[in-house]
Amino acid sequence: MKRAVYPGSFDPVTNGHLDIIERAAVLFDEVIVAVARNRAKHALFSVAERLEMLREVTGSLVNVKVDAFDGLTVRYAKAQGAQVIIRGLRVLSDFENEMMMALMNRNQEPTIDTIFLMTSKDHAFLSSSAVKELASLGGDISALVPPEVARQLAARVQGGGLSRWP
Ligand code: ADP
Repeated sequence: MKRAVYPGSFDPVTNGHLDIIERAAVLFDEVIVAVARNRAKHALFSVAERLEMLREVTGSLVNVKVDAFDGLTVRYAKAQGAQVIIRGLRVLSDFENEMMMALMNRNQEPTIDTIFLMTSKDHAFLSSSAVKELASLGGDISALVPPEVARQLAARVQGGGLSRWP
């Protein structure tokens, strides 16, 4: 069984993440989308809320699971019986960080490899932070995130939560 872990902050999940998840689900028997609890210091959504949105938007993908983890990604991946960590690559500026992280991860756990999926052209400039910023300024985010996420963001804007973020 080929199992992959797709780790990240997912604060919140965007269409760019979803695209990577859908493509990974074709390549692997099982994909675990894993919210890193200790990653985003200024998260807008709680881990529980991020998990809920991820569950909602991946509900139709039968081989995709959603989970949260603490600590080292490779340790979590190994405990889950995964052989691969999936990461998405967008612009060139992602590369340096991602390469460093992949090399560090291999140093810690040589049996687990990182596989990068290149973003699709429509999502090359899409990030959770850009979506949050756009939403806070009243921009239209409907083409950038799944409808459920757009609803949650709109609720935060209405409740004033986004003006206090980060
Ligand atoms: P992290 O804090 O780990 O970078 P993110 O939630 O921002 O968490 O991203 C998780 C992964 O998804 C990262 O590998 C990131 O490069 C990738 N990713 C984010 N947005 C996109 C996108 N629009 N297209 C492709 N990959 C993306």
